[in-house]
Amino acid sequence: MTDKEFAGSTTPRIAADQLHAFVRAIWEQAGSAPREAELVADHLVAANLTGHDSHGVGMIPRYAASLADGQLQLNLHAEVVKDAGAVLTVEGHKGFGQVVAFEAMEAGIARAQRIGICAVGLRGAHHIGRIGHWAEQCARAGLVSFHFVNVAGDPLVAPFGGADRRIGTNPFCAAYPRPGKPPLVLDFATSTVAYGKTRVAYNQGKQVPPGALIDHEGLPTADPKVMHEEPFGSLTPFGGHKGFGLAAMCEIFSGALAGGFTTHADTLGTTNAIINCMLSVIIDPAAFDAPDAQAEADAFIAWVKASPLAAGVDHIYEPGEPERVTRAEREAQGIPVDAATWTQICTAALAVGMHADEVARWSALLK
Ligand code: NAD
Repeated sequence: MTDKEFAGSTTPRIAADQLHAFVRAIWEQAGSAPREAELVADHLVAANLTGHDSHGVGMIPRYAASLADGQLQLNLHAEVVKDAGAVLTVEGHKGFGQVVAFEAMEAGIARAQRIGICAVGLRGAHHIGRIGHWAEQCARAGLVSFHFVNVAGDPLVAPFGGADRRIGTNPFCAAYPRPGKPPLVLDFATSTVAYGKTRVAYNQGKQVPPGALIDHEGLPTADPKVMHEEPFGSLTPFGGHKGFGLAAMCEIFSGALAGGFTTHADTLGTTNAIINCMLSVIIDPAAFDAPDAQAEADAFIAWVKASPLAAGVDHIYEPGEPERVTRAEREAQGIPVDAATWTQICTAALAVGMHADEVARWSALLK
């Protein structure tokens, strides 16, 4: 997604460094150690910078509610519960996903750099947000990675051919680093549209694209209210049976293989917690006998980008390019945050104990 939807809009903006400082202050107020608050701010602000507002600072109210529920645990760290050499099982203990996923990737990166490959099974993490963030951490270390994720016990998506919600929006992500160039980063939810996008459409009184939703009887609808008012409908998996199949393998690889949990009648969540499990496979490209790998990758990208443009299209993007374009725009112009989201974030800041005068000082930075 590029920033086109905000171009020329009157949505107020805030500089990324100011937003980062506000997020840090909120979590330090809540009781996070400075490093934890910093990692959470790094992640949430980066999600906004890349255009994925559904996984940015707008998550703060949900995290504060999960903390109040006694679900999200502050100042906990990833624990390697089994080390089998090329395979690590890591327990997240419902700690901040922004911390435990960072630490799980650090462990996997170190191992892959030593022996060429590492599969990391992270289980029981509180929301780990935008998965591309973790792939980019691997890519910065020069490593290829792919990631299968479930949203354990939080179904929003119907199986292909089904009429009610049974699966999370289970994201898949893969990244390929390129020396001297930005990495290729593919990162998407396996639902036709992200849940957050239905919330935006609902708040704005708009319809969603055809094929993205079914109502409570399993009938197609474009009305986002089926995701936000009872009786609830469901998101559809992207790409019919193929998206459903990928979502199912995300569920099994992340939730079953590494000792986490999958979504079924016994595991349905009833709190504000969002629990993610993630299987990450991290590979050192230098471990292959492939001196031409980078040239071949670059030649392929150049080849597809040279395709004549279809009607109404102005650019062919490589995976990860739309996020880079948005990041450049938002670093220059600030991050747009709508008034309703900002009010919710300020309310969460008050809820974790920040003084009203301090909240007002931070709030004034959104212009
Ligand atoms: P999306 O539909 O915006 O797709 C993003 C991917 O498609 C990116 O790799 C992007 O570079 C590529 N892309 C976008 N437009 C393109 C174009 N015109 N041409 C070529 N490539 C293009 O993403 P989404 O499905 O809305 O997912 C949003 C985010 O939500 C992701 O970061 C995902 O990790 C995250 N998510 C997290 C959870 C969780 O529980 N932690 C659950 C679901 C989704």
